[in-house]
Amino acid sequence: MKNKHSKRVRTVMEYRVKFLQTLGTIHSEGARLTTPPVASAAASGAKAPIIFRSELDYISRCILDCPNIETGGQLFGSWTEDGTPVVLFAIGPGPHANHQPTFFNQDVNYLLAVGTELKNRFGLVHIGEWHSHHQLGLARPSGHDVSTMVSTIREKHLSRFLLCIGNCNGRSSSLNPFMCDDRTCVATSWDVIRQESPVRRPVYEHMGSILVDPRTRFASHMTGTLRDEPARPRYARDSWMNEQGNGQLLNRMMLHVKSHHSRSAEVSVKLDDMGRVHIVSVDYGRNGRWEEDILFPDGFPGLAPFCRACDRTGSAEFRGIWSMNDDPFVAFVDYYDSIIRQY
Ligand SMILES: [Zn+2]
Repeated sequence: MKNKHSKRVRTVMEYRVKFLQTLGTIHSEGARLTTPPVASAAASGAKAPIIFRSELDYISRCILDCPNIETGGQLFGSWTEDGTPVVLFAIGPGPHANHQPTFFNQDVNYLLAVGTELKNRFGLVHIGEWHSHHQLGLARPSGHDVSTMVSTIREKHLSRFLLCIGNCNGRSSSLNPFMCDDRTCVATSWDVIRQESPVRRPVYEHMGSILVDPRTRFASHMTGTLRDEPARPRYARDSWMNEQGNGQLLNRMMLHVKSHHSRSAEVSVKLDDMGRVHIVSVDYGRNGRWEEDILFPDGFPGLAPFCRACDRTGSAEFRGIWSMNDDPFVAFVDYYDSIIRQY
């Protein structure tokens, strides 16, 4: 036990980040958004950072507050024995934060006040930062972000630091985690605990008066931000989705639909009241909201999908070519491409 304990203490010390030391860090994308050296997670063996759902929701609301300008905040929590960050509490911008289209500086006094309390009262350490590249089209750290992070880690003799980059499309947001060390930042993915953080309420009870909350009331995550939604979908009893391998088929079909839409389009799988699967795409164009609904009947793939699209001017049904062969994915690609040509 003694051994285990001392190991944990040493590891915590090793990874501990003194938030005061990073106060001087000024985040900026620089004049241009250059492509940064972001290695793959597998190459460095980075651990998937852990985050509570409540913290992802909070950051989503902050990002949605600022659809055309950068915003950001800090992540507090702890490090596990193997160096995995655990995000227990996220903060957003303070009242005097500096938001600009390509850079964001946190309100230092706000960070100091909140960070001190989180550390002294709740034992949370500053384990990372997040900022939003809103709609800049950059879902990862800029070259400047990486160099700032790497030089700060070297200067402060830190082991690791978590950097998260947010994006949004005006309706929903994403947050991509990157593990940074003294060489580079490595893309990783979240391990989401689908619960409220155990410290969120206690922190608010203690210091709710100084915390700044986003104006946006509801979080909205882009498809893919939260992997494997918890509720088990209830497909119709005869649904083709009950057959093994069809989840993967649906995913491939969804990606194919996505590849035909603009990058800002939201493409998702929805279930209707009858337990039937739909691939629904929503986008906003010059004519406002536009929606495409592809229904997969229970008899699929023997029966063709059913496609309907609508915008402000009305809705229309589209009949595509459906020739079921051995591979339902190939049949779907032919079908959908024949529909796209009618738009
Ligand atoms: Zn950035």
